[in-house]
Amino acid sequence: METKGLETRNTYPLLALRGIVIFPYMITPLEVGREMSINAVEQAMKNDKKIVLATQKDASIVQPLPEELYSFGTLCEVKQVLKLPEGQIRVLIEGLSRVEIKEFLPNEEYFEVDVVSYVSELEYDQEVEALCRSVLKSFENYIRLAKKIPAEALASIYTIKDDPDRLADTIAGQLQLDTDDRQPLLEEISVKKRLELLLLLLMKELDLLELERKIQNKVRKQMEKTQREFYLREQMKAIQSELGEQDNRQSEVDEYKKKLAAAKLPKEAKAKVIHEIHRFEKMPSMVAEAVVVRNYLDWMLSLPWSKTTKDRLDITKAEEILDADHYGLEQVKQRILEYLAVRQLTKELKGPIICLVGPPGVGKTSLARSIASALERKFARISLGGIRDEAEIRGHRRTYVGAMPGRIIQAMKNAGSKNPVILLDEIDKLTSDFRGDPTSALLEALDPEQNTAFSDHYLEVPFDLSQVLFLTTANVLHAIPAPLRDRMEVIEIPGYTEHEKLEIAKRHLWPKQLKAHGLDLDQVTISDNTFLKIITDYTREAGVRNLERQIATICRKIATEVVRGAETPIRLTVNSLNKYLGIPRYQHQMADTEDRVGVATGLAYTSFGGEILSIEVTIIKGKGKLTLTGKLGDVMKESAQAAMSYIRSRAFHLGIDPDFHEKVDIHIHIPEGAIPKDGPSAGITIATALTSALTGRPVRKDIAMTGEITLRGRVLPIGGVKEKLLAAHRAGITHILLPKENKRNLEDVPESILRKLRVDLVEHMDDVLETALLEAKEFGDGDDLQFIPIETLTNHQPWIEG
Ligand code: ADP
Repeated sequence: METKGLETRNTYPLLALRGIVIFPYMITPLEVGREMSINAVEQAMKNDKKIVLATQKDASIVQPLPEELYSFGTLCEVKQVLKLPEGQIRVLIEGLSRVEIKEFLPNEEYFEVDVVSYVSELEYDQEVEALCRSVLKSFENYIRLAKKIPAEALASIYTIKDDPDRLADTIAGQLQLDTDDRQPLLEEISVKKRLELLLLLLMKELDLLELERKIQNKVRKQMEKTQREFYLREQMKAIQSELGEQDNRQSEVDEYKKKLAAAKLPKEAKAKVIHEIHRFEKMPSMVAEAVVVRNYLDWMLSLPWSKTTKDRLDITKAEEILDADHYGLEQVKQRILEYLAVRQLTKELKGPIICLVGPPGVGKTSLARSIASALERKFARISLGGIRDEAEIRGHRRTYVGAMPGRIIQAMKNAGSKNPVILLDEIDKLTSDFRGDPTSALLEALDPEQNTAFSDHYLEVPFDLSQVLFLTTANVLHAIPAPLRDRMEVIEIPGYTEHEKLEIAKRHLWPKQLKAHGLDLDQVTISDNTFLKIITDYTREAGVRNLERQIATICRKIATEVVRGAETPIRLTVNSLNKYLGIPRYQHQMADTEDRVGVATGLAYTSFGGEILSIEVTIIKGKGKLTLTGKLGDVMKESAQAAMSYIRSRAFHLGIDPDFHEKVDIHIHIPEGAIPKDGPSAGITIATALTSALTGRPVRKDIAMTGEITLRGRVLPIGGVKEKLLAAHRAGITHILLPKENKRNLEDVPESILRKLRVDLVEHMDDVLETALLEAKEFGDGDDLQFIPIETLTNHQPWIEG
């Protein structure tokens, strides 16, 4: 089939197109709005409905000039005209053939052109057939990828696949191409060349589409991934917030790992922690076990496994610190310094453990603190009072609900270094029962052979305590469990004398409390006598703890006055004390004012220090009953029995009816019944009071005595000499009877006190009676025993007031 190129020349109205190119065979609706265009359409309708459509080179021009149009266009037939509101019209046109504009005819109303129509040139050969197939194939792909052309379009294309000219133009009409690409297709008369051009454009479009698809896929995948993650994360958050948990498990694990790296744990502990972190990481957060593991890790990682402080091994400096913090205590300080010196030389801590023994408030704890600060070590205190369970010392196993390490490991954590000073306070208050013996755990901690690997039940791995300097305190020596006592070097801190208390108050307690209450030294003046009155009338103690409390009370009240605008300095006198501290609380028992029959003065040693003690004996006609009252302990009761037996065996010698024990009832009473009393040291006093009652010989009022008695009347040594002598002096006693074997203890008693006391050292009860008893004033019938009137006993001063 062959077609000729050139055809007839004719004149038609022209419609300028913007942005599209119309191909022959194309049927398409167009909206027409421009006046010239409407006129052209109307003209065409008047003629044979034929009109030439040519595309503007620049779509933005509203009234194009002839040269602004492409010179190739399409001759079309107007199939339909539809008038739209606002003067616009819609036309349906069908492309008929290619035309070339030869001339624009003069016309004001519309473009009128002279055109030449072309008929396509076609040589139908194999090449064209191949081209057709390729174009069709590519178009199929194009439709699939572009998705903008309905699939039916493909079906209609298949019906014309044997007409290459029509195929080329129809496909060209369907493609979404730019005017620049379409126009050459329109201008190409040769079908073969047009097919080639079309194939080229299709390929280019396909490439672009493929690329576009790839990009889209990639973007979609990316989007899907982020969306998926976002969705999952949101879900996880929702679940966790439902469970009241934060999304912090991983950060916790990281934190533990960081701490582990920094903590320098010993091998075994490190392995344990790594294992637990691993477990923790995998553990669902809702299980209770997670809390247990977290707790455990917190403990393990907060212990000072390898942190040490550098010791200050400077004895002079240590001495300065001890002196600055504490008044007196010369012997104690000396022993502490010796102890530190030895440690410094041996560079080892394998010595006995210092135990500071003394009543409350004598500065045991504060001495321990001073030792720590002298050595520049950290300090921690463990109060052992009332601990009866081994687990308190050694911790509970982790299987226990709320398990924790024991006190020792807790103290190590608080101290924060591997070599602190740890004070085991009140080691005499340990008790043991069915829950195990805390003593054995303490022994392990204190024993240098074992404490390099102290085992705490909670930690499960050994902890090295060998660099810890342990110090201990106790109120009384005899209550310390024997195995512990064996390992200790005891340093006794007896109570203070009034004079010492005065100095401590002036130098330490007063400035310290003023400062604590925001007061200056020059805002208050206070005299020594005032201090002394606080000491004697407002406190009863061997130490200075209550004294410090009373001083704090005064400071509090003064601070209030100062704030209220009182004039300073405020003067504190003996008489104004009442205003700050109320009426005096105590009156020390004073020595008797009379020599009495049946009443002897003893000396007692309590945890508050020394006291004088009246022992009263009443004899009533009866059948030999012995009554003991005043809350006496077993040891004291036994020593009363011993005194009785001694007197019976010496009755004749003493001028007492040898059968007295069958004829009278004897009542021994020690006042202050509410306070338990025990110990053997009242022995000679009881014997003296008994003898006095039985013989009617009065006891000298200025004498006080202390000593244990044997059945044969020997006087044995006792404890607490210093405290007892201080108490005697305070009570106005001037003459003391002391067991001879206690002579060496007199070295502890301040010179100032000794100067005012006469101390007789006695070996036997005979000596005691000889010194203490006066001659009987008068006897009754001779063989009758004297009955002491009850009144003499009842008007006796009570021990404690209020
Ligand atoms: P303890 O541990 O023996 O019961 P503390 O160490 O708690 O006694 O002492 C009680 C208070 O008394 C502390 O404020 C302490 O500083 C003070 N103190 C005790 N003895 C002295 C002293 N010799 N010099 C200065 N202050 C002392």
